[in-house]
Amino acid sequence: MNLADPAALADEHFDYVVIGSGFGSTFFVHKLLETRPGRVLIVEWGEHHPHGWQIEKWKNSAIDGATTYRSESDKPWHYTVALGGGTNCWYGQTPRLHPTDFRLKSLYGVGADWPIDYDALEPFYGQAETIMSISGDPDMAKVLPRSTPFPQPAHRMTTPEHLLKKAQRDWHFAIPTARARVATEQRAACCASFTCHRCPADAKFTALNGMKSVLEHPRVTVALSTKAIRFDSAGDSVSALVIESAGKQYRVTSDLFVLGANAIQSPAILQRSSMGGGLTGKGLHESLGTHVEVLLDGLDSLDGSTITTGLNYGLYDGPFRKDYAAALVSFENRWVHGLRTEPGRWKQTLPLIIMTEDLPQDGNNVTIDEHGMPVVSWIGPSDYARRGQKEAFAKLPKLLSPLPVEDIIFRSDRDTESHLQGTLRMGDDPASSVIDSKMIHHRWRNLAVVGSSAFTTCSASNPSLTVAALSLRAASLL
Ligand SMILES: Cc1cc2nc3c(=O)[nH]c(=O)nc-3n(C[C@H](O)[C@H](O)[C@H](O)COP(=O)(O)OP(=O)(O)OC[C@H]3O[C@@H](n4cnc5c(N)ncnc54)[C@H](O)[C@@H]3O)c2cc1C
Ligand code: SF4
Repeated sequence: MNLADPAALADEHFDYVVIGSGFGSTFFVHKLLETRPGRVLIVEWGEHHPHGWQIEKWKNSAIDGATTYRSESDKPWHYTVALGGGTNCWYGQTPRLHPTDFRLKSLYGVGADWPIDYDALEPFYGQAETIMSISGDPDMAKVLPRSTPFPQPAHRMTTPEHLLKKAQRDWHFAIPTARARVATEQRAACCASFTCHRCPADAKFTALNGMKSVLEHPRVTVALSTKAIRFDSAGDSVSALVIESAGKQYRVTSDLFVLGANAIQSPAILQRSSMGGGLTGKGLHESLGTHVEVLLDGLDSLDGSTITTGLNYGLYDGPFRKDYAAALVSFENRWVHGLRTEPGRWKQTLPLIIMTEDLPQDGNNVTIDEHGMPVVSWIGPSDYARRGQKEAFAKLPKLLSPLPVEDIIFRSDRDTESHLQGTLRMGDDPASSVIDSKMIHHRWRNLAVVGSSAFTTCSASNPSLTVAALSLRAASLL
């Protein structure tokens, strides 16, 4: 890796200056290097913590993410500030968004339409899946159409899921995941040890194992322990980025700036630059998660080949979405609620997580305090999401009817899905969005925004594959 001494960068010019090295940034740079000439500077607040360091220290970063923003609410927002960002701590669940997620307003009259549709993103989903060697179930194309096969074979589902899939071929699938089913050159096969935020086997895609060629590319310079503070702007363009390292500030200039800090830090950088206003920082959201435990009657589970083994789309789409939210049900291969205590029945448990879509609300937002520190205000999920959660739970007996079910227990709300999204939303109309369909800021035309802050609405599906695909597409359109 070409590591930069931040002091030596003072007043240097790069063709591209990219803030952050998580999903949004690294996939953008990946495509840039394929398609464009020029030098790239990556400005990364955190340090490089190799896989061995993370396992030994049992953390993803020396910086505690909770110290990087303030909030009056108890709701936690988890992210990693380090080289690779969220690729270090994520669990590797990689469903695509559902085609209808992009057209919520025109189909159901709620939320908003994205400025692009599923078909526009489809080829880039395939490319992102190839880069991450995603394992998946070919049958999934029935719900999420695809033009390329999954790079890796599907993981093994649990016994109850095989029964369910037999009855619901169009709804139940082995999960698409960046946890390798078979070893790759950089990664071991997943062995179902269940601590994926710090995978001991290094089986999961991370930027450190899967984006080495980007981070070590001769045209890429990386400034570590260097925080993006603010932009300087002149007219309708950004003229410089002010960075801080070891207490000193420097300016770097560039033709194109790419803002890929996370959905809390990215709007804060714009607000510190007096480039906020409008919807900047507004609409922070994530899907609403629910823990459910299904007690099985005489059927063992927990025999899949990875931590989460299946996704069920039976509660995802339909006219009901004009009234309440879509729900995606994920099938867990771990004893989230403990094993059963009755003799001979310890594996007759099937933990589920219901992820319910939400609608962005202005009251959930990021502002900055007088020191420029991000402040998160959280009024809670929408009534639409809550109704969706209630309806999904009520429909579970029917969904699970192919299984011998003894009881279905609502265990708890999950305090977070760790999916911060939506604070710099994409859209065609500058009045209701911050960036356009090519991820360029509506006003500052040499500023691209990548990462989950760009999400127009909150799908029930995990976001990171979509973050990666959006970045590949945006860089290809430059
Ligand atoms: C425990 C956990 C599990 C998760 N599991 C999944 C999953 O299974 N599937 C899924 O789809 N998603 C998952 N996620 C969410 C996933 O991590 C995010 O969706 C994804 O990382 C968002 O990408 P991003 O590019 O917006 O931000 P990030 O990946 O967080 O990247 C932001 C980058 O910016 C850097 N940065 C921040 N501020 C500054 C600054 N001021 N200056 C310079 N650099 C800065 C950060 O260090 C980081 O490198 C999980 C998250 C957590 C915490
Ligand atoms: S289940 Fe285990 S081996 Fe597989 S990705 Fe998670 S931690 Fe790694």
